[in-house]
Amino acid sequence: MADQKAALEPWQWPDEQWRTLVNRVRAGRTLRPERWRDDARCAVALSFDSDHETNELRDGGTSIGRLCWGQYGNRVGVPRILKVLERYDVRASFYVPAVTALLHPDEQRRVAAAGHEIGIHGWIHELNSALPYEVERDLLMRSADALERIAGVRPVGLRTPSWDFSPHTLRIEKEMGLLYDSSLMADEDCYELLLDGEPTGVIELPVEWVRDDAVYFMMHRFQSLRPYTPPADVLDIFRRELDAAYEEGGLFQLTMHPHVIGYRSRIWILEEIIRYARSRPGVWFGTHAEVVDWAKRQTA
Ligand SMILES: [Zn+2]
Repeated sequence: MADQKAALEPWQWPDEQWRTLVNRVRAGRTLRPERWRDDARCAVALSFDSDHETNELRDGGTSIGRLCWGQYGNRVGVPRILKVLERYDVRASFYVPAVTALLHPDEQRRVAAAGHEIGIHGWIHELNSALPYEVERDLLMRSADALERIAGVRPVGLRTPSWDFSPHTLRIEKEMGLLYDSSLMADEDCYELLLDGEPTGVIELPVEWVRDDAVYFMMHRFQSLRPYTPPADVLDIFRRELDAAYEEGGLFQLTMHPHVIGYRSRIWILEEIIRYARSRPGVWFGTHAEVVDWAKRQTA
């Protein structure tokens, strides 16, 4: 592949080359049901990626400071999130690297006991595109086993770490019999994933950076540039996404992180977006698995 790249510049590629690349993983049919469960006009799917210490470990990092930051996600972030979800009787999806689950098994049991979904999020938050097929497959299978062993429920969905999707990821998801993926962004509604032009039966519940808390709040200690969006502005962006989903009768999906949204000055965003959604008639909150299941059955 590298030789091929070196031999030809992209503008010299034969049509077949870019067509094959583009068609490897594509969006197939859209799955937007007429009505959502409970005759709702809009579905809300909230998710939390419990990366915790794997944020540091995934790159081979050994910083005690950054590992402590990961522990904050477990000690403060997740409990605070669970409290808000319980207060408003909302069920959500938590994507958990196996190493996080092994470090914090009680957290996963608590999340599952509260009725939330636990989905696959890699072994140690590795980048799938850096792995050969066999290694990626082995890690994802072992991750599913670890989550099932710890939380007591077999996961049915995968969110690839860093939303990094290898040329083999979809094939592995199909082999594992997963119901859905939640790492790609070809739409705002759910859609069926095509592999080399063929329907796979695996459903995508799309994500987007614009609906991800980390994009607005993360900073790098040793870079002078520290992009930072005020929390009120982040709520404004999320609310506009929700408003439009409501108008269209579609899906509003959100990705958050316990070590990002869990802080005192930010957790209110979660509470406010839930209160706002609840204030409008015909909004249904579902886990990602429930949303996909509903969309799939209603559009079969
Ligand atoms: Zn993650």
